[in-house]
Amino acid sequence: MKKGIHPNYHTVTVHCGGCGNEFETRSTAEGESVRVEICANCHPFFTGKQKLVDTAGRVERFQKKFAKQIAERKEKQAAATAS
Ligand SMILES: [Zn+2]
Repeated sequence: MKKGIHPNYHTVTVHCGGCGNEFETRSTAEGESVRVEICANCHPFFTGKQKLVDTAGRVERFQKKFAKQIAERKEKQAAATAS
């Protein structure tokens, strides 16, 4: 191979912040570890379960903002199904 033109392709450990999974792969990324937020182990596409990927508390903020309306709607629904 010609010197000085190839990226450093080496073994790295991937750490998943979503589920704590770790696995090894090869990458040209700098350092010996790569951090990811989601991996095949915990991604909804592979698990079939719904999961919220929330990195900035946006979902929490939304739920806080609309908690009252959601509660009222649930009460209405409950009343509608009861009668
Ligand atoms: Zn994961």
